[in-house]
Amino acid sequence: MENIYNYSLTNLEKLVISLGYKKFNAGQIFDWLYKKRITSFNEMTNVKKELIDYLNENFTLGSIDTLAVEKDTDVCKFLFKLNDGQKIEAVYMNHDYGNSLCISTQVGCNMSCAFCESGRLKKVRNLESCEMVEQILQIEEELKLRITHLVLMGIGEPFDNYDNVMNFIDIINENKGLGLGARHITISTCGLVPKIKEFARYDKQVNLAISLHAPNNEIRNKIMPINKAYKIEELISALKEYISITNRRVTFEYILLKDINDTTKCANELSDLLRGMNCYVNLIPYNETSHIEFKKSDKDSITRFYDTLKKRGINVTVRKEFGSKVSAACGQLRSKHEEGK
Ligand code: SAH
Repeated sequence: MENIYNYSLTNLEKLVISLGYKKFNAGQIFDWLYKKRITSFNEMTNVKKELIDYLNENFTLGSIDTLAVEKDTDVCKFLFKLNDGQKIEAVYMNHDYGNSLCISTQVGCNMSCAFCESGRLKKVRNLESCEMVEQILQIEEELKLRITHLVLMGIGEPFDNYDNVMNFIDIINENKGLGLGARHITISTCGLVPKIKEFARYDKQVNLAISLHAPNNEIRNKIMPINKAYKIEELISALKEYISITNRRVTFEYILLKDINDTTKCANELSDLLRGMNCYVNLIPYNETSHIEFKKSDKDSITRFYDTLKKRGINVTVRKEFGSKVSAACGQLRSKHEEGK
């Protein structure tokens, strides 16, 4: 059996045409799936009986189950079980600009960033596009709202699952479906340089965020092993190429870790590194986790770091802290659930 949520409109059109139906029948099915939110193909009253029979025989509608939900005022964390028993997480955040969702792209992660909880479980497998789509559908159903902004910052490295992620974006961006605007979607990567170059040629205006977390190779090598494969200079040069091709601004994520990367010297070095680039820096207060020894920078260091960047002409913001009550840092809910058994 195949999962219908793996199909972009274009691929669904190809399928129905190959079965002898009309192209517009695919649009009708998309409408039932994403606007009307059917739970059975039999509900599609304007679709031919033979096509419904075909879908019933060959396709499933959904494959993931909600295992746990942790709710707080403006944030809600979901733990999902996939049909092979694996677990992934997603986090809903109510921002003043809209309803934002952070989803996972892999089961586990191979990037082994020293500060990250997700990486404690090595990659088991990539998520299929449908499993990313269904995270959105289930949360919209559970919370009775529509997601307006999406970030690929949950468990996993999106660029290590490039084809499924791009197919997923085609599916959710489609106007006949969820119609999530490309400019409201952000892919976050730890810096897989070849994929950044490929993404620069992608035709949708999806945002790119880079987990930088250090101003030089010495510090970055210590906390992000990917830096041994693609050095900071290579990363920055790929990003300059990306900016010149797409004319789009890049976001740099920078977690402030106490005594590791939060000194004024680091802030100065970071300003030098990013000078002249069309970018902004999002400073992230570290979400501490019991298994990992890193500590969050104190308020004064965060302010000092922010002021230094600002003074040196770098666009900078400090990320609003959301999830500490609900185990919202990547991978924390899954870890907690495993330990609770
Ligand atoms: N692999 C991708 C996306 C997943 S991580 C990437 O590296 O960008 C999403 C973001 O959360 C990254 O910037 C990551 O460095 C950050 N992150 C991981 N653990 C964190 C923690 N405990 N506190 C704050 N941010 C964290």
